[in-house]
Amino acid sequence: MADKKIAGDIKGYLYYLRDIGIEELPVKKAGGSGQGSGVVNPDTKTFGVGEDMSLESVREELGDCKRCRLHKGRTNIVFGVGNPNASIVFVGEAPGEDEDLQGEPFVGKAGQLLTKIINAMGLKREDVYICNVVKCRPPKNRNPEPDEIATCRPFLEKQLDAIRPKIIVALGTHAAQTLLNTTEKITALRGQFYWYRDSIQVMPTFHPSYLLRNESKKGEVWEDMQMALKALGLKIPEKKGKT
Ligand code: SF4
Repeated sequence: MADKKIAGDIKGYLYYLRDIGIEELPVKKAGGSGQGSGVVNPDTKTFGVGEDMSLESVREELGDCKRCRLHKGRTNIVFGVGNPNASIVFVGEAPGEDEDLQGEPFVGKAGQLLTKIINAMGLKREDVYICNVVKCRPPKNRNPEPDEIATCRPFLEKQLDAIRPKIIVALGTHAAQTLLNTTEKITALRGQFYWYRDSIQVMPTFHPSYLLRNESKKGEVWEDMQMALKALGLKIPEKKGKT
């Protein structure tokens, strides 16, 4: 445990150094007195005492999960999809029917709208990572219960630890509340950044399924996405036509 804690602290410090532009550190060469230099790469697989933070290992640990009651009605576990080194991760609430059948998040109507939003940002689905707070479809698409969220949440946290994005877009109330440990509603949260674990910025915004029912809110989501693009240092594309 102590080793893991120390490894976590060092890893966090290396991320900090990398973020402020320090890319190399002087290191003493093994078996000699000379100084060399080591690249600041907190993501290297050999770093971390006994810790393997790959998405594959998180998926392996999840296994054929039956940790909460949601396993009973699922067809597939919907783990997540996209770039394991993404700078931006979109986190939704729970898989719906299409997602449950295909085993991939955001592939139904709301997912198609999310893809359009990602494309309008000048990105492709393969550039980002997409997942949900809970990995199994709640019956009749009801909201996930607090105990189901609490049971599945460690796997979301491990996914985020493995990816280490710069920005998390929290889609809807449940994702925002889970990531920010708050009971505030999305209407109060959206439009500004918050911190996840003091190191990753979170932009809460409306869930695409809410946008399908409330078209007039699309402008606010686009404002939130522009803030995310700015924080990533990316150019804001001119908006063409309707999303
Ligand atoms: S929702 Fe999460 S914790 Fe519950 S059974 Fe599915 S994978 Fe396991």
